[in-house]
Amino acid sequence: MGKKDNREVKKHSLYKKMVVMALGPVIILGIAITFFCYMRFVTTMYREASGNMKKVAVVVSTLYDREWEGDYSLVPTKGDVYELYKGETSISERFDIIDEMAEKFDCEISVLYMDMRIHTTLRAHAGSGERLVGICTNSQTAAKVLDGEDEFYKDIKIADEAYLVFYTPLKNSDGTVIGMIEIAQKSARMKKDVWKAVWPAFFLSLGGMILAAHVSYKNTEEITDVIKKIEKFLHGVSNGDLQTELDISVLKRKDELGEIGKASTSMQRSIRSFIETDPLTQLGNRRYVSSMLEKVKGRYVENGQKYSIAIGDIDFFKKVNDNYGHNAGDEVLKAVAATLKRMMQGKGFAARWGGEEFIMVFDKLEMADAGMHLEKVLENIREMVVETEGYEIKVTMTFGVVDGSDISSEEMVEAADAKLYYGKQHGRNQVVTIMEEENQT
Ligand code: GH3
Ligand code: MG
Ligand code: MG
Repeated sequence: MGKKDNREVKKHSLYKKMVVMALGPVIILGIAITFFCYMRFVTTMYREASGNMKKVAVVVSTLYDREWEGDYSLVPTKGDVYELYKGETSISERFDIIDEMAEKFDCEISVLYMDMRIHTTLRAHAGSGERLVGICTNSQTAAKVLDGEDEFYKDIKIADEAYLVFYTPLKNSDGTVIGMIEIAQKSARMKKDVWKAVWPAFFLSLGGMILAAHVSYKNTEEITDVIKKIEKFLHGVSNGDLQTELDISVLKRKDELGEIGKASTSMQRSIRSFIETDPLTQLGNRRYVSSMLEKVKGRYVENGQKYSIAIGDIDFFKKVNDNYGHNAGDEVLKAVAATLKRMMQGKGFAARWGGEEFIMVFDKLEMADAGMHLEKVLENIREMVVETEGYEIKVTMTFGVVDGSDISSEEMVEAADAKLYYGKQHGRNQVVTIMEEENQT
């Protein structure tokens, strides 16, 4: 029981291993490709967004230069209040250009004097009119941008909202950096755009993954199915069932599994012929007879195909041994077997039943016809001269024949034996189909 359970576990584990081997790489590759595509796509989207934001910044600074000539300067008015001038014009309250551009490009635009936001479309609170001015940017960002570099950030919090932010230096006519232009775009919108663009690719790759997984799963299942069939066959053989047949679909395969299948059946044939062959005479033995009789009987039951069996025994064989020795006896047995085999060709088969007794199965002949043929067989035996150990030995045989039926093989052999015994009692050297007593009744 424990042994069987172990086998079950092992059987299962190979199947699982093969499924994992088939599906694992497909799933890992699928996830890797999807992730790689997603990352490439997101990077491209960010690059495109930062490029577009730079264009907006350039447009804003160009429009400012076109609208108001001169350089930027911060001019103190009363108290702590400063005003942003462009040339001779105070532009602190001139939001028209950035408001228009912000609406057109759906973004927020700010102009910073050094690191301080002076001019902006950003509001302190959503929906309020108050602009988010007077606030400084992060000092590291300011240092870089004021040094002349563009900067792009993917996730900056402004007034509790996440933004993609692009900074570019704001320059006076002599090229000195006096501030920055900041373009901000809500990252939620960008995320939505990414998802919108990515999901068809995601579902396509998921579909491909499922398809590939399905195909490899089916192939694995097919292979493990063949392995299971071979395994079942080999278990049958190892349990002594030498008649078990391997599924024809396995033998038809042109691959290595087909070869294993063929090798297994040829191994079965070798084992069968080894254990079903009598080593002295090379005829089939009793085991061979019982498996062959089952087939002949099966044809009789299914198609009503008549058959008959005969038991033959060498007369006074003990004397052969006594007079010429055991080896000579063996040679006689071999010669008799060869004659029986030759004479049974096309009629059925002869096998060694044991000692100096042989059995003949006529797979298409009724008792009467079999009897007639056995007369010829006996004639051949009588004429046979076995030259061995310097002797010339002749023997005779007695046969008992019965019609085949669906009774057990033992009962049929018993009936044939009874006729053989009758023959022995009535002069030997003959074929008995009908016993005198039987004839009289
Ligand atoms: P009957 O005509 O009544 O059959 O007489 P028989 O002498 O043939 O019968 P019996 O059963 O008395 O003797 C059979 C002999 O066959 C006895 C046995 O030693 C011999 N024998 C059986 N198997 C072999 C074998 O493999 N080789 C040899 N050489 N002799 C065998
Ligand atoms: Mg005998
Ligand atoms: Mg005998």
